Amino acid sequence: MTENRPHMPDFIVIPENVEQIIELVNFCNKYLVPIVPYISGNNVGGLTIPLQGGIIVDFGKKMNKILHVDETMMYALLEPGVTFGQLKKYLDENHPNLRYSYPNAPPYASVVGNALLSGMTNLSTKIGPMSDSINGLEVITIDGDVVRIGSCFYGINEADPASWWGKGPIPDLVGLFVNWQGMTGLITKCAVQLWPNHPFKKPYLAVFFGLTDIAPFFREIGKLDIVDDVVGFTIEVAKMEVGIDEPKRYPEEPAYSAVIPMSAPSEKMLEAKDELLHNLINKLNKEQGTNIHLIDYNEFSKLYNLKARTIYELPAVILSLVPYSGLSWVGTYCSFENFEELIEKTDALFQKHNVPSYVMMKTMRSGHYGIFRPIFRFKKFEDQENMVELIEEITDTCIDLGCIPYKTPEWMTAKIREKINPGWIKLFEKVKKCMDPNGIFNPGRWNT
Ligand SMILES: Cc1cc2nc3c(=O)[nH]c(=O)nc-3n(C[C@H](O)[C@H](O)[C@H](O)COP(=O)(O)OP(=O)(O)OC[C@H]3O[C@@H](n4cnc5c(N)ncnc54)[C@H](O)[C@@H]3O)c2cc1C
Repeated sequence: MTENRPHMPDFIVIPENVEQIIELVNFCNKYLVPIVPYISGNNVGGLTIPLQGGIIVDFGKKMNKILHVDETMMYALLEPGVTFGQLKKYLDENHPNLRYSYPNAPPYASVVGNALLSGMTNLSTKIGPMSDSINGLEVITIDGDVVRIGSCFYGINEADPASWWGKGPIPDLVGLFVNWQGMTGLITKCAVQLWPNHPFKKPYLAVFFGLTDIAPFFREIGKLDIVDDVVGFTIEVAKMEVGIDEPKRYPEEPAYSAVIPMSAPSEKMLEAKDELLHNLINKLNKEQGTNIHLIDYNEFSKLYNLKARTIYELPAVILSLVPYSGLSWVGTYCSFENFEELIEKTDALFQKHNVPSYVMMKTMRSGHYGIFRPIFRFKKFEDQENMVELIEEITDTCIDLGCIPYKTPEWMTAKIREKINPGWIKLFEKVKKCMDPNGIFNPGRWNT
């Protein structure tokens, strides 16, 4: 899908177990063969394109077991190939009182790949990015060692499946593998936290008429601690999500919408949350001059199209993307400080290039920070050139306003490197050299 330049691997290896992976790592390190770990290649940044050839290690096909679900300590121990669809089905059928959280990604994207890249899901306003929910990892390092990180570190050769309950008060070595894009080792197990699946649920749809009306709402909603998630979309994206293939924004229409799922263990608690949400919107409309309306999302989807419910309930294929061969985004973490400026400047760039304004945004972990993600769908080999120019201009604008891109291809990390503290780069390079002295793990990423 990505606009990033393609490159073929020389071989693909489909491992079944840890012993095979150790043998592979020893072999590749001896003969200096690149190893690119891959699950389903859904990251959109082209991060599994083997920039220098070598071997793609496909974890998706045979290392995809749900090894343990712990009801007491609320976590799942997974092999890397477990998909969102697979985990949701398994929990719904076997542990209906527990839930994971799901991105707006296809059901065949992986839970572990998403957690390793700090992905965000339909519980992120409450709990933050999925990397924060990692309890522990099993990793094969460059020396062929099997390393267990987290509370699972007890046990010389084996770990009790019931021992993966937390990261523990130990140096946080999980960070050596999160957001490193497979550059530091190969993950063979990962424990992720699960959450109570509350029986009382109510999703709302908010619509924002002014272009920047969503900004003050995003600054305040997380602080109330009442929502599972808030995901904002330009109206063009909202239309695309519910199946309108060529969406446009008409002059009288709202600029943005937001899906706001809420849940609670009791009806009374849900009613209290409902009241607080309405109060906030009334206050913003009265005191800050915004024009925001709240709609019961379930009623909206009954009237409009039941498929709309997948946005907050399920990982789902976005049908309007299917006819387009190209998909990319400038996904960033951002502050809400200059949010209005970010929204306005990005909107102007979309207009300049005559491209529908596709933007998705989220408030994370009670509003401590946000996600701002302009999206680009295109037909490869037809309008890719115009799109690449737009992607670059939007990237520059976002970086200038202090946003930090995630799932970054190397052309983007080259831009970031021009702006960041040299001390950070020096430490980063040192860690990479220590974890992978011959540079065989996904070489070229972050311009190493
Ligand atoms: C239409 C669409 C919508 C999306 N919406 C969202 C969204 O709302 N939120 C969100 O967070 N994401 C979203 N995504 C992105 C996607 O779901 C995640 O980035 C994803 O889960 C990771 O992709 P993957 O599982 O296929 O892993 P891959 O892309 O195969 O790999 C991801 C990275 O992890 C590395 N890696 C893979 N396996 C290992 C291993 N065993 N050890 C070490 N490193 C490894 C790879 O080298 C790569 O760098 C969306 C994607 C699409 C296509």
